[in-house]
Amino acid sequence: MATFGASLLALSVVGLVAIGVRPDILERLSGDPVHEWWGGNESWGTGPGMEAPPPGPGDAEGFGWTVATGGTEPVGTGPLYRYRVEVETAIGIDANEVARVVDAVLAHPRGWRNEGVSFQRVDTDAPVEMIIRLATPATVDQLCAPLDTNGQVSCRNGIDVVLNQRRWENGVDAYAGDIESYRILLINHEVGHALGHAEHVPCPGPGQPAPVMMPVYYEGLQGCAPNLWPYSEDGRYIG
Ligand SMILES: [Zn+2]
Repeated sequence: MATFGASLLALSVVGLVAIGVRPDILERLSGDPVHEWWGGNESWGTGPGMEAPPPGPGDAEGFGWTVATGGTEPVGTGPLYRYRVEVETAIGIDANEVARVVDAVLAHPRGWRNEGVSFQRVDTDAPVEMIIRLATPATVDQLCAPLDTNGQVSCRNGIDVVLNQRRWENGVDAYAGDIESYRILLINHEVGHALGHAEHVPCPGPGQPAPVMMPVYYEGLQGCAPNLWPYSEDGRYIG
C-alpha cells in the first residue's frame, strides 16, 4: 500500500505542477485516492500483477469524452476550484445536462462552498483543479485503479472525480425511487473526497441527518435520516 500511495502521490504532484495549480490546492489534491470500497484497502496488495503504475490524474485519453460547454461564474469565497464536466461519449447522456446538476450542487447554499472554497466550471482549454467525469463501470474501474471499484462504485483519484454510470442511473437502496436526490448525494460525496475528506464516517446517532461522507451504497443509512448536504441550513457541518 505504501508503494502505491507514494506512486500516486508522485504522479499527482507532477501532473498538478505541470498545469500550475496553487500550492494550497495542490496540497489538498495530492493525497491518496479515495474510493467506496469500505475497508477495501486489502485489495491494495503488492503481489504479482499489482505493480503496474496507476493512471495519472486527469489521464483519461482514449476513452472518448464529451465535455460540457460553457461555464459558470465563480460561486463561494476562498480558494477557487475550477472544474470541467465530462461524460463518456458511449453513455449517450447529454454532458450539459450532467453539468447543470453538478453546477447546482456545487453552488448550493448547503454545499461544500461552506468550507471556504469557491467553484467555477470552465470549458475545454482552461486549467482545472477537478474533472468531474460520468463514466461506464469498466472505465471507472480503469480510472480508479489500483482501487477496486468493482464495476459498481465511484472514486476520486488525483484531480478526477469519477462518477459511475451504474450508480448515476440506478442509485442505491437507501434512496430508492429518488434518483435525483441520490445524484446530489453522489456528487457531494465524491467532491468531499476531492476536498480532502478522505475518511468515511458512520451515522452519528438514530434520526440524525446522515453525513454525506457515509458509505451508503454499502451500509445504508444506519438509522440516520436521509440527508444530501454536508452543511445544515444554519451552516452547521454535518459531514
Ligand atoms: Zn467515499
